[in-house]
Amino acid sequence: MTRRYDIDTVEAAFTQFLNEGHYRKTPERFAILRKAIELHSHFVVDALHMAIESDGYHVSRATVYNTVELLEKAGILIKNVFGQNSAIYEVNHDNHIHLVCKKCGKIREIENPHIAGHVLQLHPEDFTPDSFAITIYGLCADCSSKD
Ligand SMILES: [Zn+2]
Ligand SMILES: [Zn+2]
Repeated sequence: MTRRYDIDTVEAAFTQFLNEGHYRKTPERFAILRKAIELHSHFVVDALHMAIESDGYHVSRATVYNTVELLEKAGILIKNVFGQNSAIYEVNHDNHIHLVCKKCGKIREIENPHIAGHVLQLHPEDFTPDSFAITIYGLCADCSSKD
């Protein structure tokens, strides 16, 4: 993924969320947010925790889980559950399509403005769509060449 996020904007949004919810603005929470942005990909919470620890920054697993939950509530992270896998998080960005390999679990992202246009024009009854994510399951190139 080549997307870049403006850390200042995201931090400001998180600060506002924490203020409004009367949550404490701890340095740990912001370190976790910065690492999630830095990972720049899809991750499970334990991998985020490991990445933080490997920087020599100690936070408890519970703090990471709790902060990821807050970041999800704040709309900064989104949670995906693909098949039987555990929850996979990513920094929220609209309207993309996930290609998930059923064999090795590899996740790729593609964008398709054509599909995006169609989906957002569905106008379902009593519902106002603002973003979407589509998941396509199949086999990645590595796994299909091994068959
Ligand atoms: Zn695969
Ligand atoms: Zn994604």
